[in-house]
Amino acid sequence: MDKKQKIVVIGAGPVGSLAALYAASRGNDVEIYELRGDLRDPSTTPLNFTKSINLALSERGLNAMRNAGQPKLIDHVLSATIPMRGRMIHGKRPNGELYEDAQDYDIHGRAILAIDRGGLNKRLLDILEAMPNVTFFFNHKLTGADFKKNRAWFEVRDGSSSKDQRPQEIEIDFDLMIGADGAHSAVRYHLMKYTRMDYKQEYIDTLWCEFQIQPKETAADAPLNSKFVISPNHLHIWPGKEFMFIAIPSDDGSFTCTLFAPAAFYAHLESDASGSLIPPFFDKYFPGVTNLIPPEELIASFHKNPHLPLINIKCKPYHFSSSAVIVGDAAHAMVPFYGQGMNAGLEDVRILFDILDKHARMDELNTTTDAASTRERALNEYSTVRVQDAHAINDLALQNYVEMRASVLSPAYRFRKWLEEG
Ligand code: FAD
Repeated sequence: MDKKQKIVVIGAGPVGSLAALYAASRGNDVEIYELRGDLRDPSTTPLNFTKSINLALSERGLNAMRNAGQPKLIDHVLSATIPMRGRMIHGKRPNGELYEDAQDYDIHGRAILAIDRGGLNKRLLDILEAMPNVTFFFNHKLTGADFKKNRAWFEVRDGSSSKDQRPQEIEIDFDLMIGADGAHSAVRYHLMKYTRMDYKQEYIDTLWCEFQIQPKETAADAPLNSKFVISPNHLHIWPGKEFMFIAIPSDDGSFTCTLFAPAAFYAHLESDASGSLIPPFFDKYFPGVTNLIPPEELIASFHKNPHLPLINIKCKPYHFSSSAVIVGDAAHAMVPFYGQGMNAGLEDVRILFDILDKHARMDELNTTTDAASTRERALNEYSTVRVQDAHAINDLALQNYVEMRASVLSPAYRFRKWLEEG
């Protein structure tokens, strides 16, 4: 059986980069096509048009990176993370006093890790760049694919071409295309023409916007922990029943914060161009935040940073024949309230390659089987196994919004926690 295959990965986000790493470590020829420029180039616009977001990395994602066969990757990841051992609920008592209530995630002290998505992505790209069997194609947008003939087409945007100039188009061939091109995946769109894909997408009535809590002013050589104005080892939550404000620590002493609220509230806050409604809104629903972010900064961030929607996508199957498979947000974009979107995407990669390896081993001695039919059986198994788990995580993520913004405040929740903790 021929072992070396041409694997093309669409999308150089965290999931596509890890998929390329798994494929390249198995000796395949790997090509990565990415719509945007190289993330490591400061002129490239980050994914959400602002600073890169902070994510919660959990064992699910760590395990996928541990199994990538690159010890340096996991060392780097661990050195660039901040452990969050629980959530810190912020509120105000009836007498007006502000309080913080720490709720550990685990009785054994295990933590989830705060990590900068862009930093992780750049590290993955650096490792890939050093591999001789990997080639990057930045500014290449997938525009078409024929999964029966294993051919695909890309629009090449070199950044210098003027608007009147027609973009150049290129055609490539491949053995396997891995679609890791995010929630609005072009690979998934083309896959739908080849397989009877069930597909469901919904937008929830919540927009998100990013804010920053700045570090304390300290001496340049002060230890990192002295720079944080609130505990660095918690995911901070201001539950506002219908809204929520969260803060995740960054490795420069700041916090990246996110406001989640229904679209109508954003419209209400936008209705006064001076921003005068914003600080009182925060004081009412997220007590204490205006002590951490000065009102003028709150107003500036609200106006400057985009107000972005949240989408939930379920589909099945994830593959066609032996030629295409989708992973990460392309297969199961989810709302961020369970902190599992990227983690589940990284786990997709580990499971996909475990299954591909298993089928390759089974067929190793079978001289009549070619790589494509072995891969087709593997992709079939992958879709069957993975769809159920991914759909479950999508549902849990939706449910956890109620938990985070409201249930953490309810007497029933606190009573259950008290019983659990003995
Ligand atoms: P993406 O990161 O979307 O990357 C897709 C790539 O494909 C992009 O680089 C894009 O430019 C490229 N692309 C798109 N179309 C094409 C095309 N036609 N041709 C070529 N390339 C293309 N997850 C967690 O695990 N933990 C968290 O705490 C967490 N918090 C979050 C908070 C917020 C506010 C949000 C919005 C998300 C959060 N997530 C979290 C989810 C996480 O960000 C995503 O699940 C993750 O980024 C998905 O990675 P991906 O590589 O699959 O897709």
